[in-house]
Amino acid sequence: MLRKLENYYKPSSLQEALRLADENTEGAKLIAGGTAVMAAKNNEVKTLIDIKNTGTDKIIKDENGVRAGATVTIASLLESNEIKNYCGGLIYEAAYYIASTPLRNMITLGGNIIQTFPWSDLPAALLLCGAELSVASKNNIRKLSYINAVKKHPSLAISKNEIVTEVLFPDLTSYTGKFTKFSQTNFDYAILDAGVIAKIKDGAFEDIRFAVSAAGSLPQLLSESAALLKGAPADDKGAAAKAARHAASETIFTNDKRVSIEYKKEILPALFERLIERVVKENKGGN
Ligand SMILES: Cc1cc2nc3c(=O)[nH]c(=O)nc-3n(C[C@H](O)[C@H](O)[C@H](O)COP(=O)(O)OP(=O)(O)OC[C@H]3O[C@@H](n4cnc5c(N)ncnc54)[C@H](O)[C@@H]3O)c2cc1C
Repeated sequence: MLRKLENYYKPSSLQEALRLADENTEGAKLIAGGTAVMAAKNNEVKTLIDIKNTGTDKIIKDENGVRAGATVTIASLLESNEIKNYCGGLIYEAAYYIASTPLRNMITLGGNIIQTFPWSDLPAALLLCGAELSVASKNNIRKLSYINAVKKHPSLAISKNEIVTEVLFPDLTSYTGKFTKFSQTNFDYAILDAGVIAKIKDGAFEDIRFAVSAAGSLPQLLSESAALLKGAPADDKGAAAKAARHAASETIFTNDKRVSIEYKKEILPALFERLIERVVKENKGGN
């Protein structure tokens, strides 16, 4: 509930939204899908700036990769062939289990990756692919790597007068990526999210990355664990199991009232082993 709300703006261009954001830094908030803003108890917000009509809802492929506008909904991500085909379906799989159909019609890419909750599914996938945000203010556009954005919390990496307009999923043509969400039901919040992307050349892992979320408050790249597999034969199941076990010790866990940390530590290696197996299988031409 926003008990102190006085103004609601719905600008029809990005320029107008940026002007409003610039003029209303005190007590103002951007709203996109609204699923977090409207659920929050906030007695400070006096002004909402709705950015849904700012034209930032396109998905385009160019020589640098796939560019998705910040107000693209989760439902639109799932309908996009560019997203389905990107990095073996990495982003598609991360988006697939987000909430329910009505909510996926509302939740936006920008909202999901800026108002990051422990259970948010897209942030770990953005870390894996090295995504870059375009962040606009009235007189400037800057680039922000998502890895830097999550160092504290993405919302702290954006100023009050700034709007995230686009996410660049960089070209990863030679990579395959897979993502999994472990939860009690398909619609429930993640107990654990895990993702792997890899580039396999001559039967060995030339590059491989692991990421996890819902373990701690922010998503994490597990560089040590992935490094254990660099150069290893892709069909070396022993090496994959070792790297997956290491992921449980590298991950920083925080308490979750639903399950114990020990339980998560037991589950996580199995998730990584299965993901590696799927990546390798797809690379061989399976699915
Ligand atoms: C019942 C329920 C279940 C859910 N389950 C899941 C789930 O399983 N997995 C999952 O990942 N998510 C889930 N969500 C969604 C998640 O919790 C957030 O509500 C959602 O990601 C917020 O996105 P939004 O577009 O609605 O953002 P909004 O509520 O509109 O905004 C959220 C915040 O982000 C800021 N913001 C939004 N867009 C921008 C932008 N372009 N630039 C700068 N700042 C911006 C806003 O100012 C605000 O502070 C669920 C939500 C609900 C209500």
